[in-house]
Amino acid sequence: MPGGSQGEGRAGGLASAEGLAGLRACVHCGICLPQCPTYRVLGEEMDSPRGRLYLMRAVAEGRLDITDGYTRHLDLCLGCRACETACPAGVPFGRLLETARGDMERRRGRGRPGLRGLLLALFPHPDRVGALLALARLYRQVGLQRLVRARGWLARAPGLAAMDVLLDRLPAAVPVPEYLPGREPVRGRVGLLAGCVQRHLYPDVNRDTARLLSLAGWDVVTQARQGCCGALDLHAGRLGTFRRRARALTAAFPRDLDWVVTNAAGCGSAMREYGHWLPDGEAAALAGRTRDVSELLADADLPLRPLPLTVTYHDACHLAHGQRVRAEPRAMLRRIPGLRLVELADSDLCCGSAGIYNILEPEMAGRLAEMKVESIVETGATAVATGNPGCLMQIAAGLRRRGSAVEVVHPVTLLARAAGVGEP
Ligand code: SF4
Ligand code: SF4
Repeated sequence: MPGGSQGEGRAGGLASAEGLAGLRACVHCGICLPQCPTYRVLGEEMDSPRGRLYLMRAVAEGRLDITDGYTRHLDLCLGCRACETACPAGVPFGRLLETARGDMERRRGRGRPGLRGLLLALFPHPDRVGALLALARLYRQVGLQRLVRARGWLARAPGLAAMDVLLDRLPAAVPVPEYLPGREPVRGRVGLLAGCVQRHLYPDVNRDTARLLSLAGWDVVTQARQGCCGALDLHAGRLGTFRRRARALTAAFPRDLDWVVTNAAGCGSAMREYGHWLPDGEAAALAGRTRDVSELLADADLPLRPLPLTVTYHDACHLAHGQRVRAEPRAMLRRIPGLRLVELADSDLCCGSAGIYNILEPEMAGRLAEMKVESIVETGATAVATGNPGCLMQIAAGLRRRGSAVEVVHPVTLLARAAGVGEP
């Protein structure tokens, strides 16, 4: 796989020696198939990891062109990397998929942008997301949203309907200070990633993260002008844009930080990949210092009061499969006195969010959301916790469609409540 291309991915990405080695590592055992969400829904070999690897290898070896059919099977992949966790042969599916999408991206060229292009022009820009949400508030305030829903105008545009659901959560702005000193004895200094979506749709999670880290003895730096981590561009195969964003974000953080902390699984996973896509220089160093918030708070010395709740936990794909962080969020929740954690069946099966996938592929995303919601309701929990804004929105929308009152929260929110630094 390419490591140093500066454009949107160099020609022959999959056909490189590294790409071919990754593809040929697959021994076709099929162990990954039951873990693949699209295979579970469709039962089609070409919508399984093994089938997709077969197609990618055929393209890499020059036996198949990048056809519309090939593109369709790869577009339908969530990039959840559950197959990677399951694979005994160590096939690096996520990187192979991103490389393949880089090749597809070049083929797509500069045609009409379409919904996908519009979303990619919007979400990696915090200022644009903020401006759009201001318009969305107006859209709700003047009653347009009610009218559009009542008339069913979005029924024929499931992608827009998925976006409309997002508007149900439009919180007021919550400021996060640029610097929050740590409680004595101070353990060190961390930077907090604000996130393009997180800072606007879950600003309370950022505030609570900063307060908890401070309480745990970390000085917390959250620069207002930090940009996007590049996760959406990486997953879309826009590798040149991803690298530009990675370099800019790296430059935004001071170099003397002990850790750079994220509370958004998708962002953290992409940042931990910087070392692969930008092996030389500061971005790779930043990747080595990136940690999910649960990794710093799981065993922190925090004064906690009881929170009598029954909670279940959904493993965000890019936390469980992308970063291999599973135990720490659970440990964080189990520390809260009075909180009962009940396990969720298939907790690491994708909920269908997957970045902008739920807007682009609403049918598959909807099926997966229904399966996830069903499992959550079966636990009898009154709240479900998960560490990624996309999962929070997708699961909340699924529960709302089902008429369920189960609360959907970030684990940090519950810890902050128990520590007396969050909202009740
Ligand atoms: S990344 Fe997820 S959806 Fe794609 S092939 Fe692997 S398990 Fe299936
Ligand atoms: S588990 Fe690994 S080796 Fe087996 S089919 Fe899946 S990708 Fe190939």
